[in-house]
Amino acid sequence: MKQYKMFINNEWIESASGKMFDSVNPFTGEVWAQAPMGEAEDIDRAVKAAKAAFETGEWSRINGAGRAALLRKLGDLIGENAEILAISEVVDNGKLIREMLGQTKSLPGWCYYFAGLADKIHGESIPVDIPNMINYTVREPLGVVGAIIPWNSPLLLTLFKLGPAIAAGNTMVIKPSEVTPASLLELAKLVEEAGFPPGVINIVTGYGNTAGDALTRHPDVRKLAFTGSSATGKLIVKNSAEHFARVSLELGGKSPNIIFDDADLSNAVNGVLAGIFAASGQTCMAGSRVLVHESIYDEFTEKLVERTSQIRLGNPLDMETEMGTVAFEGQHNKVLSYIEIGESEGAKVLHGGKRPTTDELKNGFFVEPTIFGDVQNDMRIAQEEIFGPVVCLIRFKDEEDALRIANDTEFGLAAAVWTKDVQRAHRMAGKLNAGTVWINNYRKVSYASPFGGYKASGIGRENGMQAVHEYTQVKSIWVDTGNIIT
Ligand code: NAD
Repeated sequence: MKQYKMFINNEWIESASGKMFDSVNPFTGEVWAQAPMGEAEDIDRAVKAAKAAFETGEWSRINGAGRAALLRKLGDLIGENAEILAISEVVDNGKLIREMLGQTKSLPGWCYYFAGLADKIHGESIPVDIPNMINYTVREPLGVVGAIIPWNSPLLLTLFKLGPAIAAGNTMVIKPSEVTPASLLELAKLVEEAGFPPGVINIVTGYGNTAGDALTRHPDVRKLAFTGSSATGKLIVKNSAEHFARVSLELGGKSPNIIFDDADLSNAVNGVLAGIFAASGQTCMAGSRVLVHESIYDEFTEKLVERTSQIRLGNPLDMETEMGTVAFEGQHNKVLSYIEIGESEGAKVLHGGKRPTTDELKNGFFVEPTIFGDVQNDMRIAQEEIFGPVVCLIRFKDEEDALRIANDTEFGLAAAVWTKDVQRAHRMAGKLNAGTVWINNYRKVSYASPFGGYKASGIGRENGMQAVHEYTQVKSIWVDTGNIIT
């Protein structure tokens, strides 16, 4: 069994209490690793190290080009270690190795992109209407950033935060989910090897209600960057208000994938499958509501069920496997209970709906890829985030009806439109209440393009130059030139 230590001030340490917690492999149901049970005292130690690095250490003397060089080095090391990183996440959360290898190979791109911005963070010169005055602004880093990460994509969602925060000159305390501590502790080894000065990037493992809570309450944390559930997001906003830390929140979704009658149905079926069954549906951007025009509903459903029945479940470490487990027992129970709720609400299971019982799969936290037909948008399965491989099919009559249904949710993370009508595609994109709209594709993200939610899906944006700005504060500087023009 692997025994991890956590990473504070460039030292590998145990928790102050000496306690550890288990990480379970969701394919075998067995404990495969242990990580230190960090609590308030450990968080305080990490925040102090991060504050010292920000205020007095070597970090404050490193300029944008220097920060860029460190980020580029980290990107190189992530690329060289893509397989180790991928495997640690697969064993921790049951994602597919073939998906994770693709993802870890893309991660250096986040480091290189934000490295490219690190020496291009500047303010403006402002023509104020006051005689003899020059006014300009500069963008300065905030200080210590607390990053709280969920279990579904720990590495990627950390890079969303680390890239811009470090490019802008902040220091960080990162708390992984208690369900998946391993991949970020593997990342910490690369942070050390890249040569970041002590205290710049710290990783404290532990539970949300202890370590996470302490990070959100720490008065020296100037910004909290959170990805996770809406319920935890609310707590974070409340705690951050005590010391006015800034907050960015990437929360849940119930994203509509809208299929018009003129869509290329085979592409749309592929988009729906990738939208909901990738990562066993455990992505914030999952296309969990599929809105289908009534004239093609039967044909589309038949094709979708047919393709879904071919999905191969199996060991996530096997390159042939097409869908893995859900990440842990509690999530497994939650997904199965939503399937029961859907049935009791009157929706029809058109495929799946159960835990597989074959010898190969019975110990893992698997849920069959599940399709619900005849779903009404006011059912709980259409309104609440299930975060599992469960898709709801909903009929619509026309464009207006599709928009009404699509926007009738508390969430607003993403949406997709499948149509060959370019005017309709852009009309829909303009009217959908979502932070991302995909036209004839699904689930695309880039380090260069802002990502975040409308409504209850979050506050702030990650990726792109906008993300860097969210890790800075603006200072306005006034200069009296004393010029007396006669
Ligand atoms: P979660 O809210 O339970 O946990 C997320 C993190 O918050 C974990 O590190 C956890 O330890 C910590 N945490 C829990 N309670 C805390 C507290 N009281 N104080 C401080 N920290 C606390 O979420 P999860 O179950 O790990 O992740 C799934 C959720 O994340 C889903 O709702 C999903 O939609 C969302 N998500 C959103 C995005 C996005 O970008 N919008 C991406 C991925 C996941």
